[in-house]
Amino acid sequence: MNKKTRGANETFRKKCREANLKITPQRMIIFESLIDDKSHPCADTVFQRVRKKAPHISFDTVNRTLLSFVDMGLLKVVEGYGRPKRFDPDTENHHHFQCVKCNKIIDFSDKALDAIEIPEDIKRRFTVTGKKIVIEGLCDSCKR
Ligand SMILES: [Zn+2]
Ligand SMILES: [Zn+2]
Repeated sequence: MNKKTRGANETFRKKCREANLKITPQRMIIFESLIDDKSHPCADTVFQRVRKKAPHISFDTVNRTLLSFVDMGLLKVVEGYGRPKRFDPDTENHHHFQCVKCNKIIDFSDKALDAIEIPEDIKRRFTVTGKKIVIEGLCDSCKR
């Protein structure tokens, strides 16, 4: 087990304790399958992956577990706007570029985008709980 995996495992155990969630082998497998995953997989992709290690796991269990990880702050949801939810194990502040053709989601950071202010009118009308910036276009492989 490398240092990064061990760190992630410690975070996982801590968050489970805080949420009073039992650490089961299935939950462990689902969590571990997402460490260092930069592809922002949907529940089905995670299901196909974990089923190789846990053949009896159901899609529903995987989906419910992913959603509880989101509640616990272990994962973030990348809004799919009608498409299946995509999950992001990187919970640090960052932005996304999404390819409109192959749906690939690529992470990027940008200080200027971080600093964008919420319009006053929106702040007055609604309770703002977050800010996400998604840039759309064609990725390297789709551009060709
Ligand atoms: Zn693409
Ligand atoms: Zn991301």
